[in-house]
Amino acid sequence: MPEGMRFVADKMLGRLARWLRIIGQDVSYGLHLSGYELIRSARRESRLILTRDRGIYKKSPPAVLLIQSNHFREQFKQVVHDCGLDPLKNPFTRCVKCNTPFDPMPKGSVEKKVPPYVFSTQDQFSFCRSCQRIYWPATHQQKMMDELKAMGFGTPGI
Ligand SMILES: [Zn+2]
Repeated sequence: MPEGMRFVADKMLGRLARWLRIIGQDVSYGLHLSGYELIRSARRESRLILTRDRGIYKKSPPAVLLIQSNHFREQFKQVVHDCGLDPLKNPFTRCVKCNTPFDPMPKGSVEKKVPPYVFSTQDQFSFCRSCQRIYWPATHQQKMMDELKAMGFGTPGI
């Protein structure tokens, strides 16, 4: 699959959407996104539809990836497999809350903006210009890596 593939996830697939964002994929998601609104959004932004709703085919949608499982791990594995994604290529490069790609922040520029403990123990900082928030790798990121590992995707750079 080409670089820069984009998705729109059905509102019932929130956990899947979140995990695709965690690995850096561009996923549009919102509670308004189901049925015709899902299709409109996919058309407007050339996104691949992710849904479990077979009924969508009656609405003559553009490209659809029908998600088979009810369980998010299986759903995630299906999308990674079917779309040829590499989960370890760009993890943690996108805001999980709003889907905006992070801007890297040099350490020197965050000193007054994060707690002193964080500043002294972290070296990498990212900024979401949409949420106006600074993020840094912390224990939650390690937990996510563990989760990816549990799904069979190993550890990057090791
Ligand atoms: Zn954000």
